[in-house]
Amino acid sequence: MKIMKRLIVLLAFIAATGSASAQTPPQTSTKKVDGTENVYLFRYGGHQSIFIVTPQGVIATDPISYLRPAKPYIDAIKAVTDKPIKYVVYSHHHYDHIAGGKPFKDLGATFIAHKRAKERFLELKKQNALLPDVVMPDEVVDNKKTITLGGTTLELIYVGRNHSDNSLVMRLPKQKIVFVVDFAPIESIQFRNIPDNLSPLEYIDSLKKLAALDWERMIPGHPYAGGRFGTKKDIQDDIAYLEDLSAEVKKAADAGKCFDPAMKEIKLAKYEKWNNYETGLGANIERFCYWWGRGY
Ligand SMILES: [Zn+2]
Repeated sequence: MKIMKRLIVLLAFIAATGSASAQTPPQTSTKKVDGTENVYLFRYGGHQSIFIVTPQGVIATDPISYLRPAKPYIDAIKAVTDKPIKYVVYSHHHYDHIAGGKPFKDLGATFIAHKRAKERFLELKKQNALLPDVVMPDEVVDNKKTITLGGTTLELIYVGRNHSDNSLVMRLPKQKIVFVVDFAPIESIQFRNIPDNLSPLEYIDSLKKLAALDWERMIPGHPYAGGRFGTKKDIQDDIAYLEDLSAEVKKAADAGKCFDPAMKEIKLAKYEKWNNYETGLGANIERFCYWWGRGY
């Protein structure tokens, strides 16, 4: 009987995923966010976005269709509502989150991004480096913009330069949720050598601004730490990590140890359980070596 039950569960899993490998999670998933009436989390591989369904239409965020079709995301929205997709909001200008939005544009969505994201696209275009399937923003945000649609309010807030110079925090004031992509990882060190960042210290300031906003749950753009949502404590931990890293690298820079000796010698044992610690700490140190050792 037990074996029979297991077989049925396995067959159901195969039917749901189209794969016989019990190790591979399905490529996409859509979940209504607990405790909300209309906020959904859409995951595509290792990237995720939120969309908000209102009686007057849908506010979608990052198309996340870089090297993937946009259709599964649109299908996920259509599976829960027949209302039109009114907006697509970009979290920041990096292609892996925002390229490939044309099918949303074809459905009539208005694209919104931080003003600097649009400037970056135009610079990239001039250099012939803009991916052809990036949709230009129709509207831009400077420090703050509020979208109200069908009784739902979504704030788009700029907290300064961090992982990019155009990252927007998307805050749902009623639900006390923020959607934050890439700049506040959960239990994870920073990405590689913290690229596209002009000032590591401004990065820390932007995390402090994020921590000061009114929210209870943070939905990230990648499923970190088993896919859980972030808390204010996670942001405090990110700040502590960057401050500890900065202090250690400053000492090493003052002692003339940047770059290679610092990258080999510095250990931050407090964070050794964090994601990417083994593979990424050296590159994180390198970024702060540039800052403390060279001034850039
Ligand atoms: Zn990014």
